[in-house]
Amino acid sequence: MTEKLYDIDAYLSVFTAKVLSCAPSAEGYDVILDRTAFFPEGGGQYGDTGTLNEVSVLDTQIREDVIYHRTDAPLTVGSTVTGRLNFEERFRRMQNHSGEHIVSGIVHGMLGYENVGFHLGDSFMTMDYSGVLSPADLSAVEKAANRAVWDNREILCRYPAREELASINYRSKKELMGDVRIVTVEGIDVCACCAPHVKRTGEIGAIVITDAIRWKGGTRLTVRCGSDALKEYETLRADERALSALFSAPRGENSSAAEKLQKDMADLRRAYSVALKENGLMRLSMLPDGAGNLVFLLPDADGDVMRTAANEGIKKCTGVFVCLAGDGVQGYKYVISARGNLRAKAKEINAALGGRGGGSETMIQGSFAASEEEIRDYFKEFTI
Ligand SMILES: [Zn+2]
Repeated sequence: MTEKLYDIDAYLSVFTAKVLSCAPSAEGYDVILDRTAFFPEGGGQYGDTGTLNEVSVLDTQIREDVIYHRTDAPLTVGSTVTGRLNFEERFRRMQNHSGEHIVSGIVHGMLGYENVGFHLGDSFMTMDYSGVLSPADLSAVEKAANRAVWDNREILCRYPAREELASINYRSKKELMGDVRIVTVEGIDVCACCAPHVKRTGEIGAIVITDAIRWKGGTRLTVRCGSDALKEYETLRADERALSALFSAPRGENSSAAEKLQKDMADLRRAYSVALKENGLMRLSMLPDGAGNLVFLLPDADGDVMRTAANEGIKKCTGVFVCLAGDGVQGYKYVISARGNLRAKAKEINAALGGRGGGSETMIQGSFAASEEEIRDYFKEFTI
């Protein structure tokens, strides 16, 4: 059986070992060593990566207590190799995993909820709890977790004797067989766990709860510790700086600047609508009286402006007045006014111009799929 060096020293990143076997697999080679510092995937944490001599270790897995190093090239059986862990990634996982124990211990102690799910991803981890955490709970848990970090408490990993184990009250997701490894965060948590941990809580740096959602009757937390927490802060800081520059607002005042901008935009929209109406009506008033049918385009007009224009425009003509709005890309909206008999004609007009809509005897509204030219041509000959 492979000696688990990561169990003895979680900080061991370079080691030598003998190659016991090397067999081709679907995705490379499966290498078994006499001892290893590579932690195999388990308990919600991915397997370690790194190198064995010049060969890359892409993943580490454990099956029936045998540890397999997945490599991209073969190694000579019987040779001694030097293993090097991608320790930056391993340490990131240690910071997060130890942080998880602290948060789960605090949630359990404070609220009595069990940790029922754990996944340590590439930039954050998720933890599922059996009960609902309110915003006040989340704030209290986060504060207590960071207090535990500042206290720089000891984290101890060991295999207690069977008799002693029976007397220890520890958290565990499942019934455990064989030797049980107990991870104790001094004064905070006692939990069965196979993963490498930091020696003292101060190494975690910071624990931030970045998201909380309802999950299967309980809560799923997204948590970032150590370097992940710093990366999250850097991302948010870059975003805040960009917003501050855009809003010309001092730090911490972007949301009030956004609120003001929203209000200014609403005021502008209202003023624009009024100006549009006045401009359209002025252009209408300049048209000569006595036309037959009139087609009048107000590209940006809303329904209200179009109806006002239609009421004024009909005074200029003897036939129908057609007010169009839009840019033609998605057709045109229309409001048509007449002195009567319009409802009976609506179907005919819509059929001719790919339109839909209807209304009263004196005004109909809807949309046309036809082009401006087709609409103008149609109303040249149209009689009501
Ligand atoms: Zn654990």
